[in-house]
Amino acid sequence: FLKGKTALITGSTSGIGLAYAKALAAEGANVVINGFGDADAIEAERKALEAASGARALYSGHDLTKVDQIEAMMAEAAAAFGGVDILINNAGVQHVAPVELFPVDKWNLIIALNLTSAFHTTRLALPGMKAKRWGRIIQTASAHSLVASPFKSAYVTAKHGLAGFTKTVALEAATFGVTANCISPGYVWTPLVENQIPDTMKARGMTREQVMNDVLLAGQPTKQFVTVEQVAAMALYLCRDEASAITGANMSIDGGWTAQ
Ligand code: NAD
Repeated sequence: FLKGKTALITGSTSGIGLAYAKALAAEGANVVINGFGDADAIEAERKALEAASGARALYSGHDLTKVDQIEAMMAEAAAAFGGVDILINNAGVQHVAPVELFPVDKWNLIIALNLTSAFHTTRLALPGMKAKRWGRIIQTASAHSLVASPFKSAYVTAKHGLAGFTKTVALEAATFGVTANCISPGYVWTPLVENQIPDTMKARGMTREQVMNDVLLAGQPTKQFVTVEQVAAMALYLCRDEASAITGANMSIDGGWTAQ
């Protein structure tokens, strides 16, 4: 149902972002993928996306902590496809440390990537969407856009900010056929989660098993990680015409975490 549409997904060489790209390509969309990683592996993914979609897949490997690089990525998408119909702001990183020991460069990185990059991509994509009177802006926010956890100050701040930004965009775009929504997963099993286990072990003095069961899944009543496919299915739904009345919403997919 997305033939002729173009989707740009930030941070889509891995994890949730890659799952979005696969789901959107499977519906026939052109996709622009972005993120870091092994060049050969990324090229293999790009080709697989084209094979799945019968449309085009473009890789734009810019660093989204830098505004000139975000502008370059959006310009590449505009040159290749005449604009972006579906924008998914998904790139994000985590750092786990108490506030008083939180490295200043990590704070700046997380705010730049997890929050400010979404402002830049949105301001650059929105005029084209408004002109076409159709668009979808989807943020991978987090349960941490609604509630906090200790030792994640920058991440929680960025995700709460992203949720507020999304509501504002939804209001400004409401009469243009453009929706803006957050998807807020609980713990999804991806490299981002796997990589924070060692720091959490250090910060809390716990074993790997204790971190998995007593920290990560402690707040998730289903006691199961969310899957990347479940998150991608929510994004696909938000792209459907049936979802045109859903805007400014924050869609939880967190195994009951924020119901507590
Ligand atoms: P991931 O580490 O698998 O993927 C992150 C992606 O961002 C990768 O493609 C990486 O290359 C890219 N990236 C990192 N730095 C970048 C930069 N400077 N410029 C451009 N791209 C960059 O992580 P994930 O778990 O798939 O996370 C994706 C999003 O989902 C993040 O915003 C994260 O906060 C959010 N999220 C994840 C979970 C979870 O439990 N995994 C839960 C809630 C929200």
